[in-house]
Amino acid sequence: MAKWTGKSKARKNNVLEFGKEMVRRSKSTCELCGESGRSLSVYEVGKTEEEADIERCIHLCNDCKNTIKKLNKASENDLRFLNHAIWSEVNTVKATAIHIISEIEEKNRYSWIDDLMDMVYMDNELEQICERMKH
Ligand SMILES: [Zn+2]
Repeated sequence: MAKWTGKSKARKNNVLEFGKEMVRRSKSTCELCGESGRSLSVYEVGKTEEEADIERCIHLCNDCKNTIKKLNKASENDLRFLNHAIWSEVNTVKATAIHIISEIEEKNRYSWIDDLMDMVYMDNELEQICERMKH
């Protein structure tokens, strides 16, 4: 997937195209929890830069968005989406799950979450996306 290199002036115009790409990729489901029929928005994982980086963008529902914004207040149940996201065929979604796990404070890390990390196979591409998601 090519990096979206629209300049900030053009950003507004490109958002529509970008949104369409996200709809195609996500098949109109939340890429984190897999639910359909919810209102979805594009979320850039990590820092927001002038030039949006499509490889750091995911399509997600409000519930998931609220969870990741207040990650350390999330309940065990709120984090169940990680079970879905980590097996995504889309590297960005996989990387997002890994990124989220890395941001969870150790005391809030349930053993099943650590187990997920043990099962993930990190290839170079995945590692690079994870690297870019770091602040
Ligand atoms: Zn969701």
